[in-house]
Amino acid sequence: MAKFDPKILEDRAWTRYAKVAKDKRVSPKRKRTEARKLNDEISAINGLKAVIDWCESRRIIVEFTNRRSAGSYHNDDKIIYINSKQKLEKQLFVLLHECGHLLIDDPSETTVFRFRHGYHEKNPRVKRKFIHRCSIVEEELEAWHRGRKLANKLGIEINDYNYDTLKSDLVKTYMKWALKDPNYLADGPD
Ligand SMILES: [Zn+2]
Repeated sequence: MAKFDPKILEDRAWTRYAKVAKDKRVSPKRKRTEARKLNDEISAINGLKAVIDWCESRRIIVEFTNRRSAGSYHNDDKIIYINSKQKLEKQLFVLLHECGHLLIDDPSETTVFRFRHGYHEKNPRVKRKFIHRCSIVEEELEAWHRGRKLANKLGIEINDYNYDTLKSDLVKTYMKWALKDPNYLADGPD
């Protein structure tokens, strides 16, 4: 497991770009693409830094791992895990989403009631029912919404189309899980 180190990530992004930029065999078009990629990566690193600082102000630790899932929020341990194998922009979006769960769980918020049959449901009889899975899907959608709002609040510019693309990819998996699609892993969303 690793802590966030913006310096290492920035150096890595610049080194990769510099290699392409000074290679005479690489076309100008490809160099422009790589320059845009570098720009996007630096923005994502700055975004990650801003969200991690926000988490720290709420005493939440953010750890980067190579765990299977894209990310997960653990309320009891006050920790968020982010899969560091993903593209930096995706890591930022997933972190924002996990912060969305954190905001939903905040006792100062009034939404816990809406999701009481979801992750907080203790009754095994209810947990077998669709009402439980539906509440979880609703919380997942809300967490994406809150994540985007948090980005706005922190002044982080995100590519809305990319954010919605990732959201829709994951929402599809939540729905498959909720409807017990046999092709979907049984353990549910994060
Ligand atoms: Zn989630």
